[in-house]
Amino acid sequence: MNIKNPYLQKVYQQTCDRDPDQPEFLNAVLEVLGTLEPVIEKHPEFEAAGLIERLVEPERMVQFRVAWQDDNGKTQVNRGYRVQCNSAIGPYKGGLRFHPSVNLSIIKFLAFEQVFKNSLTGLPMGGGKGGADFDPKGKSDAEIMRFCQSFMTELSKYIGAETDVPAGDIGVGAREIGYLFGQYKRIRNEYTGILTGKGLSYGGSLVRTQATGYGLLYFVREMLAVMANDSPKDKVTVISGSGNVAIYAAEKAQEMGAKVVAMSDSNGYLYDPNGVRLDVVKQIKEVRRERICEYVKEVPTAQYHKGCRGIWSIPCEMALPCATQNELLLEDAQKLIANGVKLVAEGANMPCALDAVAAFQKAGVLYAPGKASNAGGVATSGLEMCQNAMKYSWSEQEVDEKLQRIMVSIFHNAYTSAKEYGMEGNLLAGANIAGFMKVAQAMMAQGIL
Ligand code: NDP
Repeated sequence: MNIKNPYLQKVYQQTCDRDPDQPEFLNAVLEVLGTLEPVIEKHPEFEAAGLIERLVEPERMVQFRVAWQDDNGKTQVNRGYRVQCNSAIGPYKGGLRFHPSVNLSIIKFLAFEQVFKNSLTGLPMGGGKGGADFDPKGKSDAEIMRFCQSFMTELSKYIGAETDVPAGDIGVGAREIGYLFGQYKRIRNEYTGILTGKGLSYGGSLVRTQATGYGLLYFVREMLAVMANDSPKDKVTVISGSGNVAIYAAEKAQEMGAKVVAMSDSNGYLYDPNGVRLDVVKQIKEVRRERICEYVKEVPTAQYHKGCRGIWSIPCEMALPCATQNELLLEDAQKLIANGVKLVAEGANMPCALDAVAAFQKAGVLYAPGKASNAGGVATSGLEMCQNAMKYSWSEQEVDEKLQRIMVSIFHNAYTSAKEYGMEGNLLAGANIAGFMKVAQAMMAQGIL
């Protein structure tokens, strides 16, 4: 992706010079700045106010030691992070990721993306992200609890219901959120909606667990209807991952009549030409916390293949990458295109490499960027914050209807913005522009900060 506008070029170069060792963050900055050229040309006041320089520099970043004892009484030390990227339109909001690959570059990239995603939801939420290089896999419940308590003991100094409200992400599900919430409550002696994704018995929202996956399909349904006069019904669909996002994307896709034939984890993928049995996947992943290879023991007509990227060689009409960043590279995109894929919609954050995205766009494949199509999770987190503030709970139907309305509106916002700036059909540009404009207007109104 090239940036032609001299101001954007200059800011991108400065960012590269300042953080040359942060490839994921630089990639995210390049992806956004590469689509903002027409906006910057129309609004010279943004350059005068140094707006883009400020946008690419997080407002605050904390890194901290997380020391905890394992079940053998041995002391372990991990590294924790919270990047508070932008609070122009609301308190920082964004998930926590526990995974051995976590580093500052990854958390900064996710926090930067979150700014635009949260803006697109139309709810008053700024952007942030955090996590630790801790691997929950293979740990006992007691170890997870001790880690979460130590992590929150430090994190609690920087967050608050009106300041920064974290949520889950990779490796942080209902169990971890429970331990984190309990520790915050104990330290601060206050019962506030400090985290979202909470259990229903202590302030959680109905549909939050399903929201990112369901939201992805609500977005896809609208996108197919408007851009192709089509629907997900009967579409052969491949979904990578088998975590929170992937499972509920598969559930809603099946409900809409799509045929999901493959899912994966970081070791390999299953191919079930008869249609994936989600009850079996849920048992393996949600209840037993085992590997996806177990599937073929229970459904012998299915196949298991080692190596997760092979999933993109399966012929399909819809591909929904729902695992992690950079899991779909150019060569995978080329295979999907050769096999006739019609739509690619991201459930994960930046799962497709930039050149893979360019290949989809060039080949006329409908492409939805994660910051728009996976915003259902954070949108429902926003709804959870509303319910906590009101000390009231909406019914499942009420939350689901609001989620559907938000996803449809995000699609139209991105679609219309792309059209307005002469890039009809380019939802990546449209989402960046629409998300950016609201944040930019708020930053301009609030002065140089
Ligand atoms: P989970 O931890 O629940 O699941 C992640 C899944 O992806 C696991 O099945 C994991 O397998 C698998 N995985 C990891 N790396 C690969 C790989 N290279 N290839 C194939 N599978 C892989 O995370 P979530 O479902 O919550 O998050 C998935 C993505 O969605 C992330 O990018 C996240 O940032 C994004 N997202 C999540 C939201 C949410 O509400 N949860 C909201 C918006 C975005 P294994 O078990 O082997 O590690």
